[in-house]
Amino acid sequence: MINRLAIIGVGLIGGSLALALKKTGAVNEVVGYARSEDARKEALELGIIDRAATSVAEAVTHADMVFVAVPMGAMSAVFAEMAGHLNPEAIITDGGSAKAQVVEAARAALGDKFRQFVPGHPIAGTEKSGPSAAFATLYKEHRIVLTPVAETDAAATAMVKAMWQLTGAEVFEMDVEHHDTVLAATSHLPHVLAFNLVGMLAERDDCAEVLRYAAGGFRDFSRIASSDAVMWRDICLGNREAILALLEEYHQGMNKIEKAIREGDGDYLIEVFARAKKARDTRFADPNLIDNSEV
Ligand code: NAP
Repeated sequence: MINRLAIIGVGLIGGSLALALKKTGAVNEVVGYARSEDARKEALELGIIDRAATSVAEAVTHADMVFVAVPMGAMSAVFAEMAGHLNPEAIITDGGSAKAQVVEAARAALGDKFRQFVPGHPIAGTEKSGPSAAFATLYKEHRIVLTPVAETDAAATAMVKAMWQLTGAEVFEMDVEHHDTVLAATSHLPHVLAFNLVGMLAERDDCAEVLRYAAGGFRDFSRIASSDAVMWRDICLGNREAILALLEEYHQGMNKIEKAIREGDGDYLIEVFARAKKARDTRFADPNLIDNSEV
Protein backbone atom coordinates (compact mmCIF):
# COMPACT_ATOMS: atom_id res chain seq x y z
CA MET A 1 0.00 0.00 0.00
CA ILE A 2 1.30 3.45 -0.94
CA ASN A 3 0.15 6.14 1.43
CA ARG A 4 1.13 9.15 -0.65
CA LEU A 5 2.20 8.90 -4.27
CA ALA A 6 3.78 11.96 -5.84
CA ILE A 7 3.58 12.18 -9.63
CA ILE A 8 6.00 14.68 -11.10
CA GLY A 9 4.66 15.25 -14.62
CA VAL A 10 1.00 14.32 -14.85
CA GLY A 11 0.90 13.62 -18.57
CA LEU A 12 0.32 10.36 -20.43
CA ILE A 13 2.87 8.29 -18.49
CA GLY A 14 2.53 9.78 -15.00
CA GLY A 15 -1.24 10.22 -15.24
CA SER A 16 -1.79 6.66 -16.42
CA LEU A 17 0.19 5.23 -13.50
CA ALA A 18 -1.87 7.33 -11.06
CA LEU A 19 -5.15 6.18 -12.62
CA ALA A 20 -4.11 2.52 -12.68
CA LEU A 21 -3.03 2.52 -9.03
CA LYS A 22 -6.11 4.43 -7.89
CA LYS A 23 -8.26 1.82 -9.57
CA THR A 24 -6.63 -0.95 -7.52
CA GLY A 25 -7.14 0.95 -4.25
CA ALA A 26 -3.43 0.54 -3.52
CA VAL A 27 -2.81 4.23 -3.01
CA ASN A 28 -4.33 6.55 -0.41
CA GLU A 29 -3.50 9.91 -1.95
CA VAL A 30 -2.00 11.09 -5.22
CA VAL A 31 -0.31 14.48 -5.27
CA GLY A 32 0.61 15.72 -8.73
CA TYR A 33 2.86 18.35 -10.20
CA ALA A 34 2.73 19.66 -13.75
CA ARG A 35 4.45 22.80 -14.97
CA SER A 36 1.36 24.64 -16.13
CA GLU A 37 -1.64 25.52 -14.06
CA ASP A 38 -3.90 24.33 -16.90
CA ALA A 39 -2.41 20.84 -16.77
CA ARG A 40 -2.70 20.69 -12.97
CA LYS A 41 -6.34 21.77 -13.17
CA GLU A 42 -7.07 19.24 -15.88
CA ALA A 43 -5.43 16.43 -13.88
CA LEU A 44 -7.58 17.33 -10.86
CA GLU A 45 -10.76 17.50 -12.92
CA LEU A 46 -10.06 14.14 -14.54
CA GLY A 47 -9.55 12.56 -11.11
CA ILE A 48 -5.94 11.65 -11.93
CA ILE A 49 -4.65 13.40 -8.82
CA ASP A 50 -6.25 14.26 -5.49
CA ARG A 51 -4.18 17.34 -4.88
CA ALA A 52 -2.14 19.59 -7.15
CA ALA A 53 1.22 20.89 -5.99
CA THR A 54 2.66 24.08 -7.43
CA SER A 55 6.28 22.94 -7.04
CA VAL A 56 8.24 19.71 -7.18
CA ALA A 57 9.35 20.28 -3.57
CA GLU A 58 5.77 20.59 -2.38
CA ALA A 59 4.68 17.50 -4.33
CA VAL A 60 7.31 15.17 -2.85
CA THR A 61 6.97 16.35 0.76
CA HIS A 62 5.73 13.38 2.89
CA ALA A 63 5.41 11.16 -0.20
CA ASP A 64 6.47 7.54 0.24
CA MET A 65 6.66 6.90 -3.53
CA VAL A 66 7.72 9.48 -6.13
CA PHE A 67 7.28 8.85 -9.86
CA VAL A 68 9.07 11.23 -12.24
CA ALA A 69 7.49 11.40 -15.69
CA VAL A 70 8.70 14.64 -17.25
CA PRO A 71 10.67 14.90 -20.53
CA MET A 72 14.18 13.55 -19.99
CA GLY A 73 15.83 16.95 -20.42
CA ALA A 74 13.89 18.23 -17.39
CA MET A 75 14.80 15.33 -15.07
CA SER A 76 18.05 16.80 -13.77
CA ALA A 77 16.32 19.97 -12.53
CA VAL A 78 13.44 17.95 -11.08
CA PHE A 79 15.80 15.67 -9.10
CA ALA A 80 17.72 18.71 -7.82
CA GLU A 81 14.51 20.39 -6.72
CA MET A 82 13.22 17.37 -4.83
CA ALA A 83 16.48 16.32 -3.17
CA GLY A 84 16.14 18.33 0.04
CA HIS A 85 12.44 17.61 0.50
CA LEU A 86 12.22 13.85 0.29
CA ASN A 87 11.08 11.68 3.19
CA PRO A 88 14.02 9.66 4.56
CA GLU A 89 12.39 6.42 3.40
CA ALA A 90 10.89 7.73 0.13
CA ILE A 91 11.38 5.62 -2.97
CA ILE A 92 11.94 7.47 -6.21
CA THR A 93 11.45 6.01 -9.67
CA ASP A 94 10.95 7.36 -13.18
CA GLY A 95 9.59 6.52 -16.61
CA GLY A 96 12.23 8.11 -18.86
CA SER A 97 12.72 6.42 -22.23
CA ALA A 98 16.53 6.14 -22.05
CA LYS A 99 18.27 5.28 -18.81
CA ALA A 100 21.97 6.21 -18.71
CA GLN A 101 21.34 9.96 -18.77
CA VAL A 102 18.58 9.74 -16.13
CA VAL A 103 20.74 7.58 -13.85
CA GLU A 104 23.59 10.11 -14.07
CA ALA A 105 21.20 13.00 -13.38
CA ALA A 106 19.77 11.21 -10.33
CA ARG A 107 23.21 10.22 -9.06
CA ALA A 108 24.41 13.83 -9.30
CA ALA A 109 21.35 15.34 -7.61
CA LEU A 110 20.01 12.87 -5.07
CA GLY A 111 23.08 12.37 -2.84
CA ASP A 112 22.55 9.60 -0.26
CA LYS A 113 18.98 9.14 -1.55
CA PHE A 114 20.34 7.82 -4.85
CA ARG A 115 20.24 4.28 -3.46
CA GLN A 116 16.46 4.68 -3.13
CA PHE A 117 16.15 5.64 -6.82
CA VAL A 118 14.99 2.82 -9.09
CA PRO A 119 15.33 3.73 -12.79
CA GLY A 120 12.47 2.43 -14.92
CA HIS A 121 10.88 2.57 -18.34
CA PRO A 122 7.35 1.50 -19.22
CA ILE A 123 7.35 -0.03 -22.70
CA ALA A 124 3.90 1.32 -23.33
CA GLY A 125 2.56 4.56 -24.63
CA THR A 126 0.78 6.38 -27.39
CA GLU A 127 1.62 9.38 -29.55
CA LYS A 128 -0.64 11.57 -27.38
CA SER A 129 0.44 13.67 -24.42
CA GLY A 130 -0.90 15.62 -21.46
CA PRO A 131 -3.34 14.61 -18.68
CA SER A 132 -6.21 14.00 -21.12
CA ALA A 133 -4.13 11.30 -22.85
CA ALA A 134 -3.81 9.27 -19.62
CA PHE A 135 -5.86 6.10 -19.11
CA ALA A 136 -5.92 3.45 -16.40
CA THR A 137 -5.23 0.44 -18.61
CA LEU A 138 -2.18 1.80 -20.45
CA TYR A 139 0.19 -0.61 -18.69
CA LYS A 140 -2.02 -3.68 -18.58
CA GLU A 141 -0.16 -6.62 -20.13
CA HIS A 142 2.71 -4.37 -21.15
CA ARG A 143 6.33 -4.61 -20.16
CA ILE A 144 8.10 -2.44 -17.66
CA VAL A 145 11.88 -2.46 -17.61
CA LEU A 146 13.67 -1.57 -14.38
CA THR A 147 17.39 -0.86 -14.62
CA PRO A 148 18.72 -0.85 -11.04
CA VAL A 149 22.43 -0.07 -10.70
CA ALA A 150 24.99 -1.40 -8.21
CA GLU A 151 24.02 1.13 -5.51
CA THR A 152 20.25 0.60 -5.85
CA ASP A 153 18.61 -0.76 -2.71
CA ALA A 154 17.10 -4.19 -3.47
CA ALA A 155 14.06 -3.49 -1.26
CA ALA A 156 13.34 -0.29 -3.21
CA THR A 157 13.51 -2.23 -6.49
CA ALA A 158 11.11 -4.83 -5.06
CA MET A 159 8.66 -2.08 -4.03
CA VAL A 160 8.73 -0.47 -7.47
CA LYS A 161 8.30 -3.86 -9.10
CA ALA A 162 5.27 -4.59 -6.91
CA MET A 163 3.79 -1.18 -7.75
CA TRP A 164 4.02 -1.81 -11.48
CA GLN A 165 2.61 -5.32 -11.14
CA LEU A 166 -0.53 -3.78 -9.63
CA THR A 167 -1.14 -2.03 -12.96
CA GLY A 168 -1.22 -5.41 -14.72
CA ALA A 169 2.25 -4.98 -16.21
CA GLU A 170 5.02 -7.53 -16.50
CA VAL A 171 8.25 -6.30 -14.94
CA PHE A 172 11.76 -7.09 -16.20
CA GLU A 173 15.20 -6.06 -15.07
CA MET A 174 17.98 -5.09 -17.45
CA ASP A 175 21.24 -3.27 -17.18
CA VAL A 176 21.25 0.37 -18.21
CA GLU A 177 23.47 0.06 -21.30
CA HIS A 178 21.62 -2.94 -22.64
CA HIS A 179 18.30 -1.14 -22.20
CA ASP A 180 19.51 1.93 -24.08
CA THR A 181 20.91 -0.11 -26.98
CA VAL A 182 17.80 -2.23 -27.33
CA LEU A 183 15.37 0.69 -27.11
CA ALA A 184 17.41 2.73 -29.59
CA ALA A 185 16.77 -0.04 -32.13
CA THR A 186 13.10 -0.75 -31.49
CA SER A 187 11.77 2.67 -30.56
CA HIS A 188 14.19 5.57 -30.94
CA LEU A 189 15.42 4.85 -34.50
CA PRO A 190 11.87 4.22 -35.86
CA HIS A 191 10.73 7.57 -34.40
CA VAL A 192 13.63 9.41 -36.04
CA LEU A 193 12.80 7.76 -39.38
CA ALA A 194 9.10 8.66 -39.09
CA PHE A 195 9.80 12.27 -38.11
CA ASN A 196 12.18 12.63 -41.05
CA LEU A 197 9.85 11.10 -43.64
CA VAL A 198 6.75 13.00 -42.52
CA GLY A 199 8.72 16.25 -42.22
CA MET A 200 10.18 15.72 -45.71
CA LEU A 201 6.77 15.13 -47.30
CA ALA A 202 5.20 18.04 -45.44
CA GLU A 203 7.74 20.39 -47.07
CA ARG A 204 6.63 19.48 -50.58
CA ASP A 205 4.46 21.94 -52.51
CA ASP A 206 2.27 19.04 -53.60
CA CYS A 207 1.96 17.63 -50.07
CA ALA A 208 -1.87 17.64 -50.07
CA GLU A 209 -1.92 15.78 -53.39
CA VAL A 210 0.65 13.24 -52.15
CA LEU A 211 -1.28 12.57 -48.93
CA ARG A 212 -4.56 12.12 -50.83
CA TYR A 213 -3.12 8.87 -52.15
CA ALA A 214 -1.53 7.69 -48.92
CA ALA A 215 -2.75 4.28 -47.80
CA GLY A 216 -2.64 2.22 -44.62
CA GLY A 217 1.10 1.63 -44.83
CA PHE A 218 1.81 5.33 -44.71
CA ARG A 219 -0.69 5.81 -41.88
CA ASP A 220 0.99 3.05 -39.84
CA PHE A 221 4.49 4.29 -40.48
CA SER A 222 3.66 7.98 -39.91
CA ARG A 223 1.59 7.62 -36.71
CA ILE A 224 4.56 7.97 -34.40
CA ALA A 225 5.55 11.25 -36.06
CA SER A 226 2.66 12.80 -34.06
CA SER A 227 4.66 12.20 -30.89
CA ASP A 228 5.77 15.15 -28.77
CA ALA A 229 8.77 16.99 -30.26
CA VAL A 230 10.33 18.00 -26.92
CA MET A 231 10.12 14.47 -25.57
CA TRP A 232 11.82 13.07 -28.67
CA ARG A 233 14.47 15.76 -28.82
CA ASP A 234 15.38 14.80 -25.26
CA ILE A 235 15.45 11.07 -26.05
CA CYS A 236 17.69 11.61 -29.10
CA LEU A 237 20.14 13.80 -27.18
CA GLY A 238 19.94 11.60 -24.09
CA ASN A 239 20.66 8.35 -25.93
CA ARG A 240 22.96 9.90 -28.50
CA GLU A 241 25.64 7.20 -28.88
CA ALA A 242 23.28 4.26 -29.33
CA ILE A 243 21.11 6.17 -31.81
CA LEU A 244 24.10 7.43 -33.80
CA ALA A 245 25.51 3.88 -34.10
CA LEU A 246 22.18 2.66 -35.46
CA LEU A 247 21.80 5.59 -37.84
CA GLU A 248 25.23 4.77 -39.25
CA GLU A 249 24.17 1.16 -39.82
CA TYR A 250 20.88 2.32 -41.30
CA HIS A 251 22.64 4.69 -43.73
CA GLN A 252 24.85 1.83 -44.90
CA GLY A 253 21.80 -0.30 -45.59
CA MET A 254 20.03 2.54 -47.40
CA ASN A 255 23.10 3.21 -49.52
CA LYS A 256 23.12 -0.43 -50.66
CA ILE A 257 19.40 -0.31 -51.46
CA GLU A 258 19.86 2.97 -53.33
CA LYS A 259 22.72 1.47 -55.34
CA ALA A 260 20.65 -1.61 -56.19
CA ILE A 261 17.72 0.53 -57.38
CA ARG A 262 20.02 2.73 -59.45
CA GLU A 263 21.73 -0.27 -61.05
CA GLY A 264 18.56 -2.28 -61.51
CA ASP A 265 19.83 -5.01 -59.17
CA GLY A 266 16.49 -6.70 -58.50
CA ASP A 267 18.15 -9.77 -56.97
CA TYR A 268 19.60 -7.66 -54.18
CA LEU A 269 16.24 -6.00 -53.51
CA ILE A 270 14.50 -9.40 -53.36
CA GLU A 271 17.15 -10.66 -50.96
CA VAL A 272 16.73 -7.69 -48.58
CA PHE A 273 12.94 -7.47 -48.78
CA ALA A 274 12.37 -11.23 -48.49
CA ARG A 275 14.68 -11.45 -45.47
CA ALA A 276 12.76 -8.63 -43.78
CA LYS A 277 9.37 -10.08 -44.68
CA LYS A 278 10.33 -13.48 -43.31
CA ALA A 279 11.50 -11.92 -40.05
CA ARG A 280 8.37 -9.75 -39.74
CA ASP A 281 6.03 -12.68 -40.47
CA THR A 282 7.70 -15.07 -38.06
CA ARG A 283 9.83 -13.81 -35.19
CA PHE A 284 8.50 -10.22 -35.17
CA ALA A 285 4.88 -11.40 -35.23
CA ASP A 286 5.29 -13.48 -32.08
CA PRO A 287 3.20 -11.69 -29.40
CA ASN A 288 5.42 -13.19 -26.71
CA LEU A 289 8.40 -11.51 -28.28
CA ILE A 290 7.20 -8.14 -29.50
CA ASP A 291 4.79 -5.70 -27.92
CA ASN A 292 3.18 -4.31 -31.05
CA SER A 293 1.48 -1.47 -29.19
CA GLU A 294 4.71 0.17 -28.12
CA VAL A 295 5.37 3.59 -29.60
P1 NAP B 1 3.58 14.35 -21.39
O1 NAP B 1 2.27 13.68 -21.56
O2 NAP B 1 3.93 15.50 -22.26
O3 NAP B 1 3.73 14.82 -19.85
C1 NAP B 1 4.89 15.46 -19.42
C2 NAP B 1 4.65 16.10 -18.06
O4 NAP B 1 5.87 16.74 -17.65
C3 NAP B 1 3.59 17.18 -18.02
O5 NAP B 1 2.95 17.15 -16.77
C4 NAP B 1 4.40 18.47 -18.16
O6 NAP B 1 3.76 19.60 -17.59
C5 NAP B 1 5.64 18.13 -17.38
N1 NAP B 1 6.79 18.89 -17.85
C6 NAP B 1 7.15 19.15 -19.13
N2 NAP B 1 8.29 19.87 -19.17
C7 NAP B 1 8.66 20.06 -17.89
C8 NAP B 1 9.73 20.76 -17.29
N3 NAP B 1 10.66 21.37 -18.01
N4 NAP B 1 9.79 20.76 -15.92
C9 NAP B 1 8.86 20.14 -15.19
N5 NAP B 1 7.80 19.48 -15.71
C10 NAP B 1 7.71 19.45 -17.05
O7 NAP B 1 4.79 13.30 -21.56
P2 NAP B 1 4.76 11.70 -21.39
O8 NAP B 1 4.45 11.09 -22.73
O9 NAP B 1 3.95 11.35 -20.23
O10 NAP B 1 6.31 11.42 -21.14
C11 NAP B 1 6.88 11.55 -19.85
C12 NAP B 1 8.16 10.72 -19.76
O11 NAP B 1 7.84 9.36 -20.02
C13 NAP B 1 9.27 11.14 -20.71
O12 NAP B 1 10.50 11.11 -20.04
C14 NAP B 1 9.23 10.06 -21.79
O13 NAP B 1 10.53 9.83 -22.29
C15 NAP B 1 8.72 8.85 -21.02
N6 NAP B 1 7.96 7.86 -21.82
C16 NAP B 1 7.04 8.28 -22.72
C17 NAP B 1 6.32 7.32 -23.45
C18 NAP B 1 5.27 7.73 -24.44
O14 NAP B 1 4.81 6.91 -25.22
N7 NAP B 1 4.81 8.97 -24.45
C19 NAP B 1 6.55 5.95 -23.24
C20 NAP B 1 7.49 5.57 -22.29
C21 NAP B 1 8.20 6.54 -21.58
P3 NAP B 1 2.99 20.64 -18.58
O15 NAP B 1 1.95 19.82 -19.27
O16 NAP B 1 2.42 21.64 -17.66
O17 NAP B 1 4.05 21.16 -19.51
